[in-house]
Amino acid sequence: MTVNLTLSEVAAFKKELLRLLEQLRAEVDEDLEQQANISGQVPEVHDSAEEADAAVDFMLQVESLSRHSEEIAECLSALERIEAGSFGLCTDCDEEIELSRLKACPTAARCIRCQTRHEHALQKSA
Ligand SMILES: [Zn+2]
Repeated sequence: MTVNLTLSEVAAFKKELLRLLEQLRAEVDEDLEQQANISGQVPEVHDSAEEADAAVDFMLQVESLSRHSEEIAECLSALERIEAGSFGLCTDCDEEIELSRLKACPTAARCIRCQTRHEHALQKSA
């Protein structure tokens, strides 16, 4: 399978991915800064409700950080696919990913069919 995307379309996706990557890296920096603030605070917890709040804050930070790291990894692998010339092809079935899907989500690695199947598989194993 070859990709039907034109060079200028691929270039536009690359630009978009690089922009996204920069934005995500800034968000990770922010996450890390907030996490440092939270864990650097002297614990002034007076009751279990406050303790729970602090734990929730911390968990939200960790979650946000791990989500952003995942998105960065997706961005990087999409950029790798651009370099390899396989951007726009489903990593599972090698069919072309719908252009509308790529436009909505340039990091998409799978076509909508494989993505749906993948998510179902994840749900079953969870
Ligand atoms: Zn597929």
